[in-house]
Amino acid sequence: MTIPTYHNLIGGEWRPAASSKTIQNVNPADHSDVVGLFPASAAEDVAHAVAAAKKAFITWRLVPAPKRGEILIRAGLLLQQRKEQYARDMTREMGKVLAETRGDVQEAIDEAFYVAGEGRRLFGHTTPSELQNKFAMSLRMPVGVVGLITPWNFPMAIPSWKLFPALVSGNTCIIKPATDTPLSTYNLVQALVDAGLPPGVVNIVSGSGSGAGAALVEHPDVRAISFTGSSEVGSHVAQRAAATFKPVSLEMGGKNAQIVLDDANLELALDGALWGSFGTTGQRCTATSRILLQKGIAAKFTKEFVARTRKLKVGSGLEEATDVGPQVNSSQIETSKKYVDIAVGEGAKLLTGGHALTEGDYSKGTFFEPTVLGGVKATMRIAREEVFGPVVSLIEFETFEQAIEIANSIDYGLSTSLYTKDVNRAFTAIRDLEAGITYINAPTIGAEVHLPFGGVKHTGNGHREGSGAIDFFTTWKAVYVDYSDKLQRAQIDNAE
Ligand code: NAP
Ligand code: MG
Repeated sequence: MTIPTYHNLIGGEWRPAASSKTIQNVNPADHSDVVGLFPASAAEDVAHAVAAAKKAFITWRLVPAPKRGEILIRAGLLLQQRKEQYARDMTREMGKVLAETRGDVQEAIDEAFYVAGEGRRLFGHTTPSELQNKFAMSLRMPVGVVGLITPWNFPMAIPSWKLFPALVSGNTCIIKPATDTPLSTYNLVQALVDAGLPPGVVNIVSGSGSGAGAALVEHPDVRAISFTGSSEVGSHVAQRAAATFKPVSLEMGGKNAQIVLDDANLELALDGALWGSFGTTGQRCTATSRILLQKGIAAKFTKEFVARTRKLKVGSGLEEATDVGPQVNSSQIETSKKYVDIAVGEGAKLLTGGHALTEGDYSKGTFFEPTVLGGVKATMRIAREEVFGPVVSLIEFETFEQAIEIANSIDYGLSTSLYTKDVNRAFTAIRDLEAGITYINAPTIGAEVHLPFGGVKHTGNGHREGSGAIDFFTTWKAVYVDYSDKLQRAQIDNAE
């Protein structure tokens, strides 16, 4: 079978990288299955894309926002038609099971329809002027050319969270997808192109973070950067962007806790913990990586949780019977291994899993056993640092107050969950958990597109995606219209 070669999209044309170099995109369940060759772009390619986006901005900003929204509706309808194919492409390049990649495409569809409606809102404000016969209002304006940098774990949903609000707000975009999963971004952008998006409004520059990504961050004509990825790279991106005063939206790592109190519905808590910990092979920013168990139910929960974990079927995400797909690449396997060793070295108990799977069909890809560590203390590295794999820690506590303290004792603050029937504790937790998202009686994963998405502390820098994205992709203009026909000096002519 011939391997398809994909090009960058620049100014409406598909072109190879200036260097002609390519990067292989492989199936993590079977490395001999090459999904495609993608351009290994660098600064020169980014410069072409920025020039194309700058040119397209001249006209795109003048397209009425409701019309921009209509293109998103058409793109959403195309994504609906192509959902199954795009889900299969995504499982092949990224690994997670088909039910989840269908969900990932669905999230882009939901985002298209949600954000399309924003084209008829984009509300500003009016306010009384302090002077007579003067009108005051504030308007949302596009930012200009924006750079979007995305990770591999939600290869279509996350690009859609950035592209759609940026577009409806009147910006033109350059997107740099993750090296491991560019195809899903291509599919998403193809739907936009087929929906009638004019050339140059969205440009794709594929390539490494240090090549294409860094060039995008540093380009003087890029007016803002929206980044999702690790806290380490996010910190670097923010520092580089500061040199040209670019606003940066950072959505980064998590170390999310599910707290289970003695009075919880244990069945429900177990279902939630299993899905939260091992959905997407633990490779979600909101994945459950700490399960905090109150003493009264800890032993029973642990026994049952370990038994259920052992029953999970690991395999290719393309097979319907698979519960847990591969990890995206061998470096993620190394990280999972490393953290199991660190945890055991610090005194945690390996209750199940803990190893890469390398026999038989597993040898073709990058698989890791669903892993549960018991006896974990809040101070251990395994309880504080992000693994981003199918590795979860069980931590026991005595009082509700201790659980909140442990949940908050880390640098991250993305998602949290509490299982209880006690409404007073539920509301206390909603108030006191330091996180951008809190679930009651539901797992730490499962965000919906029309709520604010993001976190506090090292998870983010104060911006939000979802309902918060328009705030990042627009800038305010204050407008004063004086219809008095005379010079009126604010703070002077109207002062006592
Ligand atoms: P990553 O290594 O930080 O990479 C994210 C993106 O940044 C990729 O496109 C990467 O390119 C690029 N990049 C790397 N170095 C760069 C540089 N010097 N300048 C500009 N761009 C650069 O993260 P990942 O491994 O793809 O994703 C996993 C991480 O994302 C986890 O920490 C997870 O928690 C986080 N995440 C957060 C959210 C959220 O919304 N809070 C959602 C999903 C994931 P390459 O692909 O070439 O490395
Ligand atoms: Mg791949």
